Amino acid sequence: MKFAVIERETIILDPKNNMTRKYIPSEIRKDPLTGRSSRICHFMALKWDKPDFEKLVAGTEQWCPFCPDKVLQVTPSFPEEILPEGRIISDDMVLFPNIAPYDSLGAVATMGSRHFIPMTEITPERIAKAFRVAMEFFRTVHGRGHPESVYHIVNWNYMPASGSSLIHPHLQVFATSLAPNLMREELEAAKDYLKTNGTNYWDDLVQAEEASGERYLGRIGRTTWLTAYAPIGVAGDVLGVVDDVPSTLELTDDDLSDISLGLTKTMAAYDKMGIYNFNMNFFTGAEGDGHARVHLLFSPRTFFNQALGSSDVGALRNLFNETICMAFPEEINGMLKPEF
Ligand SMILES: [Zn+2]
Repeated sequence: MKFAVIERETIILDPKNNMTRKYIPSEIRKDPLTGRSSRICHFMALKWDKPDFEKLVAGTEQWCPFCPDKVLQVTPSFPEEILPEGRIISDDMVLFPNIAPYDSLGAVATMGSRHFIPMTEITPERIAKAFRVAMEFFRTVHGRGHPESVYHIVNWNYMPASGSSLIHPHLQVFATSLAPNLMREELEAAKDYLKTNGTNYWDDLVQAEEASGERYLGRIGRTTWLTAYAPIGVAGDVLGVVDDVPSTLELTDDDLSDISLGLTKTMAAYDKMGIYNFNMNFFTGAEGDGHARVHLLFSPRTFFNQALGSSDVGALRNLFNETICMAFPEEINGMLKPEF
């Protein structure tokens, strides 16, 4: 396990200190699995002001297609050969086809009837229940032998800075035979790692991080929570790795509850920084992939300038896929750890 880093130093003449020399350190880190680079710098404190949520949310329920008065009228249904009952309804949660599909087996699942749920009020029970709805969809299409039922992915965009166009909490649920870019790179690298080292990369990562403690957050059931060494998000990423589970379909009901609890702890910790938006993706292998382990990546999202709506994804990230994190992941670990 190699945690590679290239250290950099910038010298500026500081106007706040009579134009004397100021030395500013930064780092270019390499992800131990893929070699993807991630830049760590300090240009602001990890502290944001939250907006006036009442103002932000006001009126949006009027046109929200996921609110209970509309969801069964305006959302589509699956044809009988994919999902016999058309939609999956579990109490106040509904899963239906994604109306803007990016693959042939795409669904959206509402996380209940409540239109706006502040990040810290989303309970682990609610998340686990929504994951179970997604699993029911995956198991149905898998049982029917759909050719795209290979990688089973749950993604979550929460609140506008995450790219979500709706306030109403919902999950993106899809199955595909084509692993998305970063997931594919990870799977290929993990396969090589297993071939070269004779061990599973994720098992080794968990062991190394547990031993060093620098980025370790905690363990819930058989899921280990870490701050990512080479994060994608500007305020770091939290990684949850499930022991012994190569693919989503092999997750147990207990795993879903444990993952959900870890996510709420992560949300509670980021809430204290003023973060109220995030992306969360499942990364999975195909069934029986010995080199893979199901892991989740939680990446907080924010606006660099709330009034202007400035995205935290700029040219460097968008076009080069080069990421910038505004604090050392070990420092971020210290901010998150009290919740774990
Ligand atoms: Zn709604």
